[in-house]
Amino acid sequence: MSFLVKNYNRKKIAFNKGKGSFLISTKGQKYLDFVQGIAVNSLGHADPRLIKALKNQSKKIWHVSNAFTIPEGEKLAKKIVQKTFADFVMFQNSGAEATEAAIKVARRYFYSIGKPKKNRVLCIKNSFHGRTIAAIYASGSKKMTEGFGPKINGFDHFDFGDHKSLKKLISKNTAAVMIETIMGEGGIKVIPDWCLKGLRKLCDQKKVLLILDEVQCGVGRSGDFFAFEKSKVKPDIVPIAKGIGGGFPIGAVLMNKKVASGMVAGTHGSTFGGNPLAMQIGNTVFDIVSKKSFLDNVKKKSKYFLKKLNKVKNEYPNIIEEVRGRGFLIGLKLRKDQSSFIKKLMDNKLLTIRAADNVVRILPPLNVKKSELDLALKIIKKVCFEY
Ligand SMILES: *Cc1c(COP(=O)(O)O)cnc(C)c1O
Repeated sequence: MSFLVKNYNRKKIAFNKGKGSFLISTKGQKYLDFVQGIAVNSLGHADPRLIKALKNQSKKIWHVSNAFTIPEGEKLAKKIVQKTFADFVMFQNSGAEATEAAIKVARRYFYSIGKPKKNRVLCIKNSFHGRTIAAIYASGSKKMTEGFGPKINGFDHFDFGDHKSLKKLISKNTAAVMIETIMGEGGIKVIPDWCLKGLRKLCDQKKVLLILDEVQCGVGRSGDFFAFEKSKVKPDIVPIAKGIGGGFPIGAVLMNKKVASGMVAGTHGSTFGGNPLAMQIGNTVFDIVSKKSFLDNVKKKSKYFLKKLNKVKNEYPNIIEEVRGRGFLIGLKLRKDQSSFIKKLMDNKLLTIRAADNVVRILPPLNVKKSELDLALKIIKKVCFEY
């Protein structure tokens, strides 16, 4: 009997040990973990550098209030600003908090320049920005919002790829367009670079802010530190989370100087966000993952893996319709419902996770070994053969 609320459809399996790309179940069985907490454990399980950071910091100081200066957070923010588009950073604890704070930043900016009515946010229908009450209405999914009314006003939605409706829906009251650079939960749908460029131009013309939700696709997952970098587009606000803590809950909102000017003292806060323990771990993850050589390695290995996956697709076109994604944010779109395929992969000791659109999501740690990618390919081929 479980006394946990039944809001998850949990598998029976549990794990009590992890090392790198592998997990050991409580029954002693070894699994190749290509879920990694849904793109969270950037460096796999039990990375010695992260263990050291956690241990050292835990002996010094865990938590102090944001009423005081937190040097570990100052340090991480400075590094992020030096390496990215951002001029300022605001730390949170999770993805949903980061996306909601991003919305607050956008609205507050227009309020601060005397345009309080410019407050609507335009999103892609059936996207994913988290599960808090405003984030579910931002996502515009019937399933996620069902039973949680009254509806939170202030969001408009266009269909993925429907440029006409996107243009039509931008009004004088639109504050921001918020999209995921690569839609994760929605089925690993990559927004093409030319679309991002067009969107930036459109936002500039209409004086609308661009929020790119990189909670899942950011922090090295795509092979670049941010998935939008390849397009050369500069967003105004970027929420991140998942990968930046390497398994420790951290979220952040990155923003340019212009929009940060609205966030004066008292406009936002978080008790836990940016505490010393989280920040020390964040610093360690960032130092590793933001290195060019590390990202080059993600690019190289993921290119190899995607090429091989496409070969499997070509061998089994009746099972796999498409290989989607970039870097180590990968989706196999199947011809039909993916649940039995995921179960068979698991029976063969490979863990993957679903996404919308019949997609099997594959999320190796960013420091995965080539031999582990080969092992996954072998299992995927075997399951296709027996399917
Ligand atoms: C996971 C996710 C979120 C929500 O993050 P939580 O930490 O679960 O609140 C928001 N946006 C995107 C794109 C995500 O993938």
